[in-house]
Amino acid sequence: MRVTIHRGINQIGGCITEIATNKTRIIIDLGQNLPKGNIPSDDNMANRENIEDLIIGVNAIFYTHYHGDHVELFKYVPKGIAQYIGEVAKRVMLCKYEALIHIPENAPVKAEDIQLLESFKTFREKQEIPVNNDIKVTPYFVSHSACDAYMFLIEADGKRILHTGDFRDHGYLGKGLMQVLEKIILPKGAINVLITEGTMLSRSTEKVLHENDIKLNAIELMRQYKYVFVLCSSTDVDRLVSFYQAAQETGRSFLYDNYQKNVLNIFTETKGTIHELFRFDNGHYYKHGHKKQLDILKGKGFCMLVRPKHYNQIKELLTQLPEKQILFIYSMWSGYLNEGENQKEEYVKIEGLFNDRVKRLHTSGHATPETLAAVCSLVNPTTAIIPIHSEDSEKFRELPIIEDLRNKIVAYNGTIHL
Ligand SMILES: [Zn+2]
Ligand SMILES: [Zn+2]
Repeated sequence: MRVTIHRGINQIGGCITEIATNKTRIIIDLGQNLPKGNIPSDDNMANRENIEDLIIGVNAIFYTHYHGDHVELFKYVPKGIAQYIGEVAKRVMLCKYEALIHIPENAPVKAEDIQLLESFKTFREKQEIPVNNDIKVTPYFVSHSACDAYMFLIEADGKRILHTGDFRDHGYLGKGLMQVLEKIILPKGAINVLITEGTMLSRSTEKVLHENDIKLNAIELMRQYKYVFVLCSSTDVDRLVSFYQAAQETGRSFLYDNYQKNVLNIFTETKGTIHELFRFDNGHYYKHGHKKQLDILKGKGFCMLVRPKHYNQIKELLTQLPEKQILFIYSMWSGYLNEGENQKEEYVKIEGLFNDRVKRLHTSGHATPETLAAVCSLVNPTTAIIPIHSEDSEKFRELPIIEDLRNKIVAYNGTIHL
């Protein structure tokens, strides 16, 4: 069995991992390099030729979750190669692509991308997927800033590889992580190679809150401010729960646009049937310029999900609200707003509408160094730990893990033979 990290060491995103036996090859994630600030992604793999070269002889591709840095290069995969993603993740991706196809200047999405996406095979948690009667892949749920994210157990040639994907243990369902590892995955037998994310190793100054604390903080803020505008990811289900629940708790109207409503409907119809927490039943479309709705909202107060495209309507709406009761909550990674190479102009612009009436309230979608250390120690792989999705993979050696494990860290792109 061979494990090849094509991309992912010393960079966040753009992950491509290959696992192969003598007769079968699979790829885990085909991610595009993340764009830097306003500059589009620079990615030498983002073309049909290079992807076709990479996947000659590949039997199947598995995606951990729907973030572009894990899935975006799917569009260069020739038809006929099996591509797998979670059932709910596929619906969210389709919803996003169907919205993006109408705004070609932002992200060029073509009709054939959507057709290809529609052909994706899906899986459910703990479903064993045989590939070529040779490799077995089993997805296990992980908490992340995306809905329907998974780690994969890959078994072949009597060996086991665990690929964590992006994960954390401080999301609403995060505490299940160690239990799944301990009670379900590890009893199957020793893990030979652990491929794990390490995003937060280079973001150690960020304060990590439990997602429930985001909700509690949001409740406090909504009690102080009647008109709350929130900039957060439209597909980060946990964060949407936090603000939705805070709005419910404080009697504020929860407002969204068409696209956000479509995504929330998917969450309600799927995860919401299993966990009450993921239901978004009491929200409303914001109808800009609708006087009657505005009068109701003025009385009740609101929590409105905003996107940069709403700039003009928010600007106008702000003139109709008492300034002292307005608040803008920025609930995404600070790197997009702070000065520097990752800064996104459109976020700065929208924040600028609110002068000093701005609060930042966010927590990472990624595991803390303590959690990474706990996972490494519990999994205790026999052969290697490969840290991907980290700006500085070598930093993994600074984690509080035993010497024996530290010696197993492999922090370079390349192939390991098992
Ligand atoms: Zn990622
Ligand atoms: Zn992610």
